Amino acid sequence: MNQLKLSVKNGHPDKRTVVTVGSVRVGEDFVVIAGPCSVESEQQALETARAVKKAGANMLRGGAFKPRTSPYDFQGLGLKGLKILEKARQETGLPVVTEVTDPRDVSWVSEYADVLQIGTRNMQNFSLLKEVGKMNKPVLLKRGMYSTLKEWLSCAEYILAGGNPQVILCERGIRTFETYTRNTLDLSIVPAVKELSHLPIIVDPSHGTGRLSLIEPMSLASLAAGADGIIVEVHYNPAEALCDKDQAMSPLLFSNLMDKLRNLKEALGVGPVVEAGRPPLALAGR
Ligand code: PEP
Ligand code: MN
Repeated sequence: MNQLKLSVKNGHPDKRTVVTVGSVRVGEDFVVIAGPCSVESEQQALETARAVKKAGANMLRGGAFKPRTSPYDFQGLGLKGLKILEKARQETGLPVVTEVTDPRDVSWVSEYADVLQIGTRNMQNFSLLKEVGKMNKPVLLKRGMYSTLKEWLSCAEYILAGGNPQVILCERGIRTFETYTRNTLDLSIVPAVKELSHLPIIVDPSHGTGRLSLIEPMSLASLAAGADGIIVEVHYNPAEALCDKDQAMSPLLFSNLMDKLRNLKEALGVGPVVEAGRPPLALAGR
């Protein structure tokens, strides 16, 4: 696979990167990151954080900088939002995953975030990738909605080549002709990434489907496909969510999902079986 050096296994089929975030080890156990699309207020973030913690989530998500398609939509609380997330972490002990959208913000946002999220719209923002590559902080790199696997791994490569080995990939759906779902969640990318790369990969079924009814089945399917975790949107009162209301799980739905994930994990016992000894097909083209 030409030009990919650090993100691929390079003749070491058993190589696996485990990204440590506090006591959470991404790439070793199935991790669940949950929380609101965006931080809207202290009450909303704290109540949601308490609920996801109670249900068993491993990390808290929440956007303070929201890259919205329309400039007239809620853009996030910025620094105020980060301070609220800090409070939520202090109270619940959950590490915080939050998005950074501007290279100039990377260094100071890192002081609040436990994991820096790069959103789908910024996957190929090379100056942003170079900046997070300089940090000693895990990075959650979402797949660009129009990107091939090779383009995605090339972006991970920017971060790795910058000196930051702590990259977690996140499949969040790609654009296809289908309009029923918000995006088409490409779950086949999970075992594909596992074949080619040593990096952990999680799945975002919330943005991947955009439909509440599809999040639970796609979360369970992610576990079955061998993903290292999921990131899901939960709001303590979904009807009032300022952002991505239609895909926000209530604490009750999320707690039911956690129960089902535990049962499925037990039923699966081990990860999916991969036929040994046959190398994956080369990754041609883009
Ligand atoms: C998000 O997770 O908050 C988000 C905006 O996701 P994406 O970049 O995948 O659209
Ligand atoms: Mn969202």
